[in-house]
Amino acid sequence: MKASQLLIGGKWQDASTGATIDMVSPSDGKKIGMIADASAENVHAAVAAARRAFEGYWSTFSALERGRLMHKLSELINTHHEELTQCEAADTGKPLSQARADVTVCARYFEFYGGAADKLHGEVIPYLEGHQVTVLREPRGVVGHIIPWNYPVSMFGRTIGPALATGNTCVLKPAEEACLGVVRLAELACEAGFPDGVINVITGHGETAGAALSSHSDVDFLSFTGSPEVGTLIQIAAAKNHTPCVLELGGKSPQIVFADAEPEAAIQAILKAIVQNAGQTCSAGSRVLVQRSIYEPFVHALAKQFSALKVGPHSEDLNCGGLISQVQKERVEKFLNLATIEGLEIAAEGTIVASADPNGFFVKPTLFSLVPEKSALAREEVFGPVLSAIPFDDEMDAIRIANDSDYGLVAGVWTENGGRQMRMAKRLRVGQVFINSYGAGGGVELPFGGVKKSGHGREKGFEAMREFTIAKTVVQVHG
Ligand code: ADP
Repeated sequence: MKASQLLIGGKWQDASTGATIDMVSPSDGKKIGMIADASAENVHAAVAAARRAFEGYWSTFSALERGRLMHKLSELINTHHEELTQCEAADTGKPLSQARADVTVCARYFEFYGGAADKLHGEVIPYLEGHQVTVLREPRGVVGHIIPWNYPVSMFGRTIGPALATGNTCVLKPAEEACLGVVRLAELACEAGFPDGVINVITGHGETAGAALSSHSDVDFLSFTGSPEVGTLIQIAAAKNHTPCVLELGGKSPQIVFADAEPEAAIQAILKAIVQNAGQTCSAGSRVLVQRSIYEPFVHALAKQFSALKVGPHSEDLNCGGLISQVQKERVEKFLNLATIEGLEIAAEGTIVASADPNGFFVKPTLFSLVPEKSALAREEVFGPVLSAIPFDDEMDAIRIANDSDYGLVAGVWTENGGRQMRMAKRLRVGQVFINSYGAGGGVELPFGGVKKSGHGREKGFEAMREFTIAKTVVQVHG
């Protein structure tokens, strides 16, 4: 089995040390591939290549030309849709339909940002008589992108799409647990015709390759998605060079169901938002707050459908696949054991199908009821298919519980009352509010990001393009 290589300055190469990392299938624990384990030396070479490209040939591309290349990549992704789907599902363990949706989203990012490349404009500011003030939007330069293992393919588009559209060059470090799809996407980017050094991909460990990238003094901007703990390390490393960064770090997102909500629609969305990617989603709806007057019948109806959830290998395309690794499985099991010790009530459990390999990293989706607001399950990000139901009394109580969190990423509000919908949207301390719907992933046009421990800065939509640019003010005296 041959290891995939690093893409540095348009050339595919092994790690300078020759080191590799085994890739393991979450569906059966077996080795499915190998990746190059980039050294700090490789990271330096990638940053240098990105710098040369930024200051060289790439800067001669107009926004329109950059956009056309991105459209080409989008088309190539769609041409290779099934191949990428199979690769992403095997690599991450996610069910095939989820992987398929992720590939579609990746293509859509390049379509969206390809179209947006020539639509981000500067400004003209009225100033003193005889002066002309222009605010230019310029690329930041060399961007370091560090992404996690939960949505590697769609996150490739999410993070480098807006960076490329605005004229930056990229050094991307995907996660060592899952990145085979990203390597394939990088090959397609070469085929699309991106000039050498514009997109560099360095696979490898976080503590070595990731740390070398985040602490690099010639990186102009960092975009990180991952855990709050690593987010802190990235921010400390970035601060030492005064490198600005966008951090997207997870959540404990509430779905808030009022007595007047349409129950069936809410239940379907609530289920999807916690089983999608086996709960390994930053914006997973992992708390369901239900108004006390309907708490029992609602949780009963939710539990009935929750019990029907099936878990198994990606190829069987069930509700959930395996978790990414044995480590992650044990982490989720620790939360489940703690809940048992605390005596929390299990309202429903899904089933691991009989055909599932015992060496796969499967856990049963679990719905807990009457979870105390202070318990770990109600407060910490489990990153697994574990849902906590919590009752509330009225609007103010719902706001209090929802906002009483270290995190603030997304919230869902389920009510037919228009005034309440907007009051809730305004009072929730999160970056996205869905009213009578919920979206995790997708929605490439919708600015996304958090407050508090969920991070800062925005990805997706035009907001991401603003993040990847600086405003330069030019004052000209023309008399
Ligand atoms: P998760 O909790 O999703 O596993 P992590 O925050 O551990 O996420 O990892 C997200 C990304 O950060 C991965 O690409 C990982 O390799 C990288 N990473 C991990 N540790 C470091 C570090 N010390 N410095 C830079 N990047 C890191």
